Amino acid sequence: MSLPRARSDIEIMASYHSPQLDVEVRLNTNESPYPPPPELIAALADVAANINWNRYPKRGADDLRQRLAERHNTTPNRVLAANGSNEVLQSVLLAYGTHRKVVTFEPTYAMHSHIAKVVGADVVTSNRDDNFQLDLTAALELIHDTKPSVVMLCSPNNPTGVTDSSEVVTEMLSAVKEIGALLCVDEAYGEFSSQSALDIFADDPQAPLVVTRTFSKAWAMAGLRMGYLIGPDGIVNELQKVVLPYHLDAFKQNASLAALEYGDAMIARVNQLTAERERVFQALSSLPVGSFEVKVWESGANFILLRPDGGSAEQVWEQLLERSVLVRNCASWPGLDNCLRVTIGTPEENDRFLTALTEVNGR
Ligand SMILES: *Cc1c(COP(=O)(O)O)cnc(C)c1O
Repeated sequence: MSLPRARSDIEIMASYHSPQLDVEVRLNTNESPYPPPPELIAALADVAANINWNRYPKRGADDLRQRLAERHNTTPNRVLAANGSNEVLQSVLLAYGTHRKVVTFEPTYAMHSHIAKVVGADVVTSNRDDNFQLDLTAALELIHDTKPSVVMLCSPNNPTGVTDSSEVVTEMLSAVKEIGALLCVDEAYGEFSSQSALDIFADDPQAPLVVTRTFSKAWAMAGLRMGYLIGPDGIVNELQKVVLPYHLDAFKQNASLAALEYGDAMIARVNQLTAERERVFQALSSLPVGSFEVKVWESGANFILLRPDGGSAEQVWEQLLERSVLVRNCASWPGLDNCLRVTIGTPEENDRFLTALTEVNGR
């Protein structure tokens, strides 16, 4: 007897994975190199001690949504919280994408098309140009012609670091409005950028737009699995029907509230990392031409995409690894030929990376 078959579209999929290796300098998953403040870690012990573990958690996570709403000058009925922004995206795609068309602009975060396919959406992909910018005319035409239900953007984009201009975002919004679709902007790196689609709500609170955020990057809490979105209450209402009952456990709700007390520490980390990002960018841009010439793209996030022109990214990745520096190998990802992505770490880690890369380039 053989095991039952999964859906045929699931069977042909590869599962998402981000290989972890035991190295000294880990710059491959865009996490914060700094832990959250020790005061927060200490507060988490109190959080755990004060939970009624025999009771179900607050189903609507009202306190947490209230605090998140305050942070973004909005109201709790416009906030959906979930287990990481991946669950937020899954909820959006379940409620608005299943059995319908979802548009992505590649290369972008692989989970967008992956989750869309898992929930049974028909994914229509379009390509960005050679510098990973969106061709606005072509994008608007595509939306007009294919009439998707959801259009996905990621700004700053992972893994390119490119931020879409506010013109791109507002034009895309007009286009989805015309066809009754939803624009979903993934702002996992929004705190590192000077620009946010959230500003649109100030003028147009009922815009067909959801903006997702996460605790996994700027908040240095990837281990907590907390993400949220801001959107019109009518949309948040539908999303609440899709999430499982009690999906946010009691510890997570209260730990997230505790984490939000350390917003100043978050901003200090972000400032430190964006300053380091500029330093690493300059160093990469001025790396002398050796066995390869480094091409870099300006980033609005906590990582930088680079390409060793004239060399092999695959080899560079391995030679960095030999020096105990792990970066993300994107060389085989569609549209990212010969590219590597390096997360901004502590100044010491960034120096280790730059020294190792210089060595590899000089051989
Ligand atoms: C890291 C990342 C996320 C984060 O997902 P979580 O589930 O919140 O950890 C979401 N979107 C993008 C583009 C990312 O790079």
